[in-house]
Amino acid sequence: MLRKLSLIAFTILLGSCGGGDAYDPAHDYFTFANTNQFITRHIALDLEVDFAAEKLRGSAVLYLKVIDDSAETITLDTRDLDIKSVAVVAEDGSLQAATFDFGDTDAGMGTPLHIAAPDDIDTETELVIRIAYETSPDASALMWLPAELTAGGKQPMVFSQSQAIHARSWIPLQDTPSIRVTYEASISTPVELLAVMSANNDPLTPRRGEFHFEMPQPIPSYLIALAVGNLYFAPIGEVTGVYTEPELLDASVYEFGQVQEMMDVAVANFGPYQWGRYDLLVLPPSFPYGGMENPRLSFLTPSLLAGDRSLVSVVAHELAHSWSGNLVTNATWRDGWLNEGMTSYLESRLMEIIYDVDRADEAKVLDYEELLLNFESVPVERQSLAPRLDSGDADDVQGTIHYHKGRLFLEHLEIEFGRDRMDQFLLAYFDEFAFKTITSEVFLDYLDDELLSVIPDVVSRDDAEGWLYQPGLPTDAPIPFSKTLSEATAHAQSWASGEIELQDIPTANWSPQAMRHFINSLPADLTRDQLVALDAHLGLSATSNAEIGRTWFIQVATRRFEPAYEALELHLNRFGRTRLVAIVYEALASNGHDLELGEAMFERARHAYHPITITAIERVFARAEADANGEV
Ligand SMILES: [Zn+2]
Repeated sequence: MLRKLSLIAFTILLGSCGGGDAYDPAHDYFTFANTNQFITRHIALDLEVDFAAEKLRGSAVLYLKVIDDSAETITLDTRDLDIKSVAVVAEDGSLQAATFDFGDTDAGMGTPLHIAAPDDIDTETELVIRIAYETSPDASALMWLPAELTAGGKQPMVFSQSQAIHARSWIPLQDTPSIRVTYEASISTPVELLAVMSANNDPLTPRRGEFHFEMPQPIPSYLIALAVGNLYFAPIGEVTGVYTEPELLDASVYEFGQVQEMMDVAVANFGPYQWGRYDLLVLPPSFPYGGMENPRLSFLTPSLLAGDRSLVSVVAHELAHSWSGNLVTNATWRDGWLNEGMTSYLESRLMEIIYDVDRADEAKVLDYEELLLNFESVPVERQSLAPRLDSGDADDVQGTIHYHKGRLFLEHLEIEFGRDRMDQFLLAYFDEFAFKTITSEVFLDYLDDELLSVIPDVVSRDDAEGWLYQPGLPTDAPIPFSKTLSEATAHAQSWASGEIELQDIPTANWSPQAMRHFINSLPADLTRDQLVALDAHLGLSATSNAEIGRTWFIQVATRRFEPAYEALELHLNRFGRTRLVAIVYEALASNGHDLELGEAMFERARHAYHPITITAIERVFARAEADANGEV
């Protein structure tokens, strides 16, 4: 039995809500769908992939459970979809045309599609709706890559990125994580290409231009995913493998060679893996994220192919999402810490076992520094783990706060209750809420019932609510420490002040994290000669490690170290992952001199960027221009 105290606490803490409509933290404000009247249970897609027109064309059949038989309208989410027809599917399969129209378009949320519900619906009978449609070349979820932007350069590719609210740009549906659907899909493609989905991919599927997929486990809409391209498969372990273009296959198999070991460790610690196979899909550079945890098939950026397995924590992260996020899902984007904070915590636990505690600590320190930086820019009302969230961009809620502050909360619980007790709690939690979506309040009540009240006087409910509803960090938040990174800081300062030579810095033994920390620890007043010597000695501008490059080029732009601007632009063209490029543009735009130069570089590079990345960079420049014009 769960208590319902937390909503009251939440309302009190958010006393500034004011009058007007009551804010409901359990409501998803990023969907038009009337999920209080209808809930989708299953979706059947039948889509043709048309590379010439950059469109998906076909139909979606939605199987709806009727909650309210007096409902007159079924409202679905769409964005830039061309709806051809809507029909109710009778039990004998015959189609009855249904009238439909559109509501007002919202820039962030898209356009509601209103479908007239039949008069005779009842809560005992499933309502089946068939929608014929095609997508727009501008669909925000779909990246259509011409052949020259792929690794092989011979075949085009398309891939989706549905999170947070982009599924509606390629499927008309109830686009909210608060409900879960199973799906099936028939996808037709050019015969030489392979289609893969977040479903039952078969590595031995012949290429005949027709693919059929089943996803029998219910998932939220943001996890429906598709990619089509010149993709090949190589196995890694018993239930793990990698899909990518042939040109990247060997490098990917090596880089992610530990994924089966990660899987075994995760199962031993967090409970059964519930999804069958776990494969990786390595995409071209324009994939906007490090990874996307599409179930059974994580999508990954090729920027992880460092050649030395140094960036595989992203794979640990995506795999961990098979438990936190995919199995137990945030009910709304405001509860995103349940996905990302929990996953960041599990990622650290995996990294401790697969590497060692030192390596995990290094990542924690860097994440902590990023979190402190975010606190400087994220408004206080967005700094809690479960903030009020009823407007804005679902893709950019609050920087890394859901991730890093969420992890610190769970580490705090682990420190206070001990790891064994924490692990018992997590096992029970994943079991209790498997294939469900939950709010922060449900988590809090469960935590209270299963841990806080069971072992009293360790962490109070008030303390836990402080993490969920207050800005910043509680005074007893764990502060990560890494001896290696502290030494890197000391070396940066000693070298800058002339106490030691570059040759005395023991970089050969450093992880990429240590190198990043060293770069971040360099004093602001380094001379140009010092930067030239440093770059030449450490090869920073020529690094093949995307994260070291990111860290270095932020410094290059911030310090206006122009000898490295050519390499900086190469970095911006080599990677399309938002994290790797947007912040470099931001450093250029805000250094007081290079706003126009940064915009020119963006114009040259943007054709290879994903729409999500483009939006993020455009936001950077809009903010910088407003600052430059003295606007508030
Ligand atoms: Zn994640």
